[in-house]
Amino acid sequence: MQLQETKTLISAGEIQAKVAELAGRVDKDYYGKNPLLLCVLKGAVIFLADFMRCLTIPVEIDFMAVSSYGASTKSSGVVRILKDLESSIEGRHVLIVEDIIDTGLTLKYLVENLRSRGPATVKIVTLLDKPDRREVDIEADYCGFKIPNEFVVGYGLDYNEGYRQLPQVSVLKGSQK
Ligand code: 5GP
Repeated sequence: MQLQETKTLISAGEIQAKVAELAGRVDKDYYGKNPLLLCVLKGAVIFLADFMRCLTIPVEIDFMAVSSYGASTKSSGVVRILKDLESSIEGRHVLIVEDIIDTGLTLKYLVENLRSRGPATVKIVTLLDKPDRREVDIEADYCGFKIPNEFVVGYGLDYNEGYRQLPQVSVLKGSQK
């Protein structure tokens, strides 16, 4: 796959500083709670890896994969669980680790699904948020950057499975959303 030209929106340095700041807040808020970090595949893996290494409290991790977009850049509004958690979350403090909240449809579904499993708490940390695109009422408890309504790639986020390896968050030149 040929990678198109991209324009940096948030630099690698800015991301690293923000990730450390978010981790500092979570360290404080979750002290003594042994939270379960629930990483939403695949986009959030890079964020999870950096974020958890900035935490000093003990944590566990688990993964879920949900589909919302397929190979296009438009939301289908359909959410399917492709991979479920390996462990029970009953009585646990669950912190969902997301790459980006766009329409909010995916997270809304996920949070409702998780709440039905009897966790102590369910909260959300997201690196990116596109508030202008929201279609349902959902907010992150911890948010890195609010960004404009543009399709972004890098730092785990893909376009047709490409660009995930970029250390910065970029806009695809010529992309439309
Ligand atoms: P939502 O359900 O909030 O509309 O969509 C959430 C998911 O859509 C994200 O986890 C991500 O996988 C994908 N998504 C939303 N906006 C973007 C974007 O600007 N770039 C990329 N690469 N994925 C996005």
